[in-house]
Amino acid sequence: MNDRDFIQFLGTGAGDCFELYPPEGSEVNGVKAKKSRNRNVRHAPSLFISPDMLVDFFGSAQMQAYGIRDESIHHLLITHAHEDHFQPKAILDVASGLPHPWTVYGNTTVKHALDFASVHRWNASTENFELIEKTSEMPVQVVQPGQRLSVGEVKVIAVSANHMIDVKHLIQQEQALNYVFERGEKTLFYGLDSSYVLPETQKILSGFQFDIAVFDATFGLKEIDPFQSGHQNFAMLEKTITQFWEANLFKEDAILVADHISYYEVEPYNEIVNELSEKGIVLAYDGMILEF
Ligand SMILES: [Zn+2]
Ligand SMILES: [Zn+2]
Repeated sequence: MNDRDFIQFLGTGAGDCFELYPPEGSEVNGVKAKKSRNRNVRHAPSLFISPDMLVDFFGSAQMQAYGIRDESIHHLLITHAHEDHFQPKAILDVASGLPHPWTVYGNTTVKHALDFASVHRWNASTENFELIEKTSEMPVQVVQPGQRLSVGEVKVIAVSANHMIDVKHLIQQEQALNYVFERGEKTLFYGLDSSYVLPETQKILSGFQFDIAVFDATFGLKEIDPFQSGHQNFAMLEKTITQFWEANLFKEDAILVADHISYYEVEPYNEIVNELSEKGIVLAYDGMILEF
């Protein structure tokens, strides 16, 4: 492989992820952390696509942990405006110290949130927001599902995730995005924060055969209501994977990844990794690298 062409999982947690690396010897998921990169320690979901792209951003610490410098990033794709995936203030703070801006791609909520955060500050004594001088220009490209983008040397297609949808009232509270990435012969699906794949997304995905597919497996072995959660457990993940195989969406040696793993709901890494592996599923961990 060209050693420039890889992806690295900077965080594989869910909404209850770790904000900071825990001190050595602290107990995590019932397992004593021998070192700070114990596989049970999951930070906010974020993916580095070499050499200069990030999907979702919580903070620079996760990049620094793997030696990725802020200034090496040029493109930031945001899936949706949940705090484990998107931190407008942190993005603006990083951008203000860089020689070049990051181009941010995301939905309209992401655009509005960055616009708001760039000119407001919370004032605790007046208990209201106050206007501030804009400190950095942040180019934001609003992305619609179905839209194709050229981002550096990578082709990107945005699709709708099945997330934040009030099933009873059919209110899509925010348009969460999943992404397809193509580089050379390789194709990657990044499908976190989604319950079962929406039909319009299935239609778009049917044009691809994936080398790597990263799926939501937030709730592990826990039983959940598939229609309310906006996420998957392992049983739902298996169903989604079967559906993908039946639709011929995977290359023969495709790598299927379970990601976005809840700290409180899911068993420790060592207790579930083999069972998943027997089903052909790779359990993601922070720092995991795959050729792409
Ligand atoms: Zn999430
Ligand atoms: Zn979410």
